[in-house]
Amino acid sequence: MLRITGGQRRETGPDGEWVTRRIPGASATKVYRCPGCAQEIPLGMAHVVAWRPYGDGGDRRHWHSSCWDRRTHRAPRY
Ligand SMILES: [Zn+2]
Repeated sequence: MLRITGGQRRETGPDGEWVTRRIPGASATKVYRCPGCAQEIPLGMAHVVAWRPYGDGGDRRHWHSSCWDRRTHRAPRY
């Protein structure tokens, strides 16, 4: 069951809509692999979790904060 404790934000990027939540270092109790750089996010490192606003939340991904920010800011096409 997906429990939401707040602190979420809705973001729209070049690849569509995401819901994101900042994970504080104290809550990072598992190692994840960041899809932005394919490197691991070590235990205790604050990071971002992002998932699609539709669906069952099974597509949640954990990103380094810097990788997430770079993703949304790259190559804006106006
Ligand atoms: Zn990364």
